[in-house]
Amino acid sequence: MGRRQTMMEKYKIQMKAYRKKRMKADSTPFSGAQESVYVMDSLNPEKRIKVMVKKTVTRNQRQVIECLACPECGADMTWDNNWEAFICTKHGKRAIYELAP
Ligand SMILES: [Zn+2]
Repeated sequence: MGRRQTMMEKYKIQMKAYRKKRMKADSTPFSGAQESVYVMDSLNPEKRIKVMVKKTVTRNQRQVIECLACPECGADMTWDNNWEAFICTKHGKRAIYELAP
């Protein structure tokens, strides 16, 4: 089958993945030391729901939200870069909560 990857090619692929990861990491929402934020259920975007910020981390000199409490079941929700939202998979069907202004 295909030719073997050279070291250089491997390096390039790794760097590309790394850059992608870094860029994506920057989409994590800024927290600003708030104790709670508003989110909206992607299935019911009219409703703003207040949720507790469980954990923040400082990344690239920004304080970002690492973990929110699910408004439905209270489980820890972490940021999902692909959805650009917090996802809870703990209470039945997957719930997607986007940050609300
Ligand atoms: Zn939940």
